[in-house]
Amino acid sequence: MKANIVLLPGDGIGPEIVTQAQRILEKIATLFGHDFAFSSQMIGGISIDQCGDPLPQATIDACKASDAILLGAVGGPKWDDPSAKTRPEAGLLKIRKELGLFANLRPIRLFDQLVDSSPLKREIIEGTDILFFRELTGGIYFGESGRSGSGPDETAFQSMAYSVREVERIVRMAALAARQRDNRLTSVDKANVLEPSRLWRQTAARVMAEEFPDVQYDVVLVDAMAMHLINRPRDFDVVVTGNLFGDILTDEASMLPGSLGMLPSASLGSDGPGLYEPIHGSAPDIAGQELANPLATILAAAMLLRHSLSLTEEANAIENAVANVLADGLRTKDIARGGKHIGTQEMGAAVLERLV
Ligand code: ATP
Ligand code: MG
Repeated sequence: MKANIVLLPGDGIGPEIVTQAQRILEKIATLFGHDFAFSSQMIGGISIDQCGDPLPQATIDACKASDAILLGAVGGPKWDDPSAKTRPEAGLLKIRKELGLFANLRPIRLFDQLVDSSPLKREIIEGTDILFFRELTGGIYFGESGRSGSGPDETAFQSMAYSVREVERIVRMAALAARQRDNRLTSVDKANVLEPSRLWRQTAARVMAEEFPDVQYDVVLVDAMAMHLINRPRDFDVVVTGNLFGDILTDEASMLPGSLGMLPSASLGSDGPGLYEPIHGSAPDIAGQELANPLATILAAAMLLRHSLSLTEEANAIENAVANVLADGLRTKDIARGGKHIGTQEMGAAVLERLV
């Protein structure tokens, strides 16, 4: 198949890790007979430095015309001045909005070889494999807000709203993903207290009954979910939730594997390209030192193949190669515990070698 892939290397370790992921995608194209065209575009701090804009129009145009986007990371201390007119992160928020990316997917998969770096006991987490769907463009983060009064009476508010349409589209997307996995979906809300959660629950239940009767479906309150993630994470397959709860729960869950350097994410809309990236930041403290773990970005490239290009076999090939690298004891410094310690490029090369 032919695909146009936009690369947004960004700042800090972004360029190093995106380079490694690109090598992997190029090898996949050769192995499976695909034609991937890459175009590298500017975003973030480096873009502010070069043209005064964290998201130039040329980048937006290239992204919109692409089939999928692979992002490194944006930001760093150089651009952290709070009085600055534009910040690197503004580029990321704007591209998500421009592309209508309403669903944020975060897989929490524990590679068996790294289970012992988790803060939790092996018998609790071994085999954990959860796919979170966090609603990204609605809810309280985009609610009406304001302040009134003064002194001790000064009051601030922020409203939370969800429409039927917003709930339907993300529940559908999550249910379709569940069908490709263990066929189980859990919706997380706070319907005992919040009205938007009651609409969420009612809508999700209807979509599941009408369109996905074959998918095993249940509902959990967000406070209970926070506990379940720590004491029985293996019980979940696909989890769908709103913006605020998703923000908190996915950060909680990202600690289960015990390493930031291994976790990818995807942001998807109803049509058009998806945006794929590692969940970690630009790690300016280790940039340019061959210390960055490229595996989260390489796994993001696997998600890109699976979700934007429907290339399941190719995505599996990358994930298996990563598992084999770990099984062979190869580790970047952030995940080193015992194992052989290698650098960023060597890690990319090790995955490349194991791709079949
Ligand atoms: P942001 O604010 O951009 O989300 P952050 O400042 O919260 O990011 P990161 O940039 O993710 O955090 O870095 C947190 C710590 O984890 C740093 O010490 C960094 O060096 C380390 N780190 C992050 N990503 C990686 C990686 N891919 N490989 C190795 N170490 C990493
Ligand atoms: Mg930071």
